[in-house]
Amino acid sequence: MIQFDRVVKKFGDHVVLRELNFSVKPGEFVTLIGPSGSGKTTILRLLMTLEQVDGGTIQVCGDYLSHMQRGGRFVPADERYLRARRKRIGMVFQQFNLFPNMNVLQNVTEAPVRSLGLSKADAAERARDLLDMVGLSDKVQAHPMRLSGGQQQRVAIARALAMRPQVLLLDEVTSALDPELVAGVLSVLKEIARTTDITFLCVTHEMQFARDVSDRVMMFDKGQVIEDAPPEQLFTQPAHERTRSFLHAVI
Ligand code: ATP
Repeated sequence: MIQFDRVVKKFGDHVVLRELNFSVKPGEFVTLIGPSGSGKTTILRLLMTLEQVDGGTIQVCGDYLSHMQRGGRFVPADERYLRARRKRIGMVFQQFNLFPNMNVLQNVTEAPVRSLGLSKADAAERARDLLDMVGLSDKVQAHPMRLSGGQQQRVAIARALAMRPQVLLLDEVTSALDPELVAGVLSVLKEIARTTDITFLCVTHEMQFARDVSDRVMMFDKGQVIEDAPPEQLFTQPAHERTRSFLHAVI
């Protein structure tokens, strides 16, 4: 579903990803952990095509993100191709990024109407189901400013799901929340992971969540995955000294 092959990403002279290889299978929940500034968010931004690779290739659902086929040849992807690929991928950010001038329902219906071509009625029906799923059926008419951070993040999750993504990227989705609001957001995500076939790639500092929900956890350091294992193995018997010292510092 997601495949990174020898991906290189630099910012100026700073090499953030060094020939990075990893893959995520359909329906898997994979969590990336690692030190701050090591390039985890950059991986998600590359998948959203908000950044371009400097080397190597990325495939999502079997298609290259940087190149498309035309007349039997690979040529650099154009904006239309990228837009179509981007629709398969949803992302939930640390800062919820809701539209402040729209109510909750409008936040969730806006993109399906505009870019999937759904009727307003169909989009609203689906949005109500999703808002019910994230426990916000009583906040449909509310404006984001009137909601707690945890509620805003649950709207952001419903908004991402409204686009029916095949892949959902989660970037530190609880980092901006007060501690008592974290559990509600994480339990919503756990339920979505359990009940849908969406493929998840998650960056988090919530080690207990990573342990509970992930099929695999990848320890990332200095531009490469240095350990990739099921959570019970990685958290209890890390093979790599760097993983051990990282876990010791954060748990
Ligand atoms: P954190 O856990 O703190 O969010 P991270 O592992 O997600 O960190 P990234 O945000 O991917 O790390 O950043 C990796 C490195 O790339 C950092 O050193 C960062 O300063 C640098 N970087 C990221 N984006 C840019 C950019 N647009 N221009 C220049 N440098 C950048």
